[in-house]
Amino acid sequence: MSSDSEVINLTEIRRDTAFAESLTPVGHELKRCIQCGTCTASCPSAAFMDVTPRQMWRMANLGLADQVLHTKTMWLCTVCYECQVSCPRGIPLTEAIARLKQMAIQERIKGFKESTAFYRAFSDVMRRYGKMREMEFMVRYFMSTNLLSATGFAGMGLKMLQRGKVKPEMPQLGGEGRLDKLFDRVAELEGRR
Ligand code: SF4
Ligand code: SF4
Repeated sequence: MSSDSEVINLTEIRRDTAFAESLTPVGHELKRCIQCGTCTASCPSAAFMDVTPRQMWRMANLGLADQVLHTKTMWLCTVCYECQVSCPRGIPLTEAIARLKQMAIQERIKGFKESTAFYRAFSDVMRRYGKMREMEFMVRYFMSTNLLSATGFAGMGLKMLQRGKVKPEMPQLGGEGRLDKLFDRVAELEGRR
């Protein structure tokens, strides 16, 4: 986590007062936050985050949507649910982080291209085949980020191939669309269609 503290003048900044409510199922759960810091203390990734979970929820409650969506915090979340089960106010924090990721991807927030590309490649492959095809996933990921960086993973990829950890399946055009209906239904429920 960052040791630098930044002073934000709330009177000079555009705020989205409905932001926190859009992150949880019922809508008002984040308002119950008492800033106790248990979420940060229980988070195994907090030391690597630029903004700790506690700070991020405070920012969300202040309506600092843009600032929250540009933190690295959500992308370093491993979805372990520690914060959620530890929060004394019973706030569905991990689910709120999942919602933040969706928003950042939908709004094509720049600066975390690799993370966005990772999630997009993963969901595209799952949607097409209903299972992971590692080779196709890696091709999609590196093509949408930096093809040259794939060379740095070539040794590891070869080892995984030799040990049968990944199958040498060539990417297919189109795919079977096995989970199309499921993905479409989720998009419908989330109001993305
Ligand atoms: S653990 Fe819950 S109440 Fe405590 S700071 Fe985190 S979100 Fe707020
Ligand atoms: S769910 Fe994410 S934010 Fe919560 S403790 Fe785990 S890694 Fe940290």
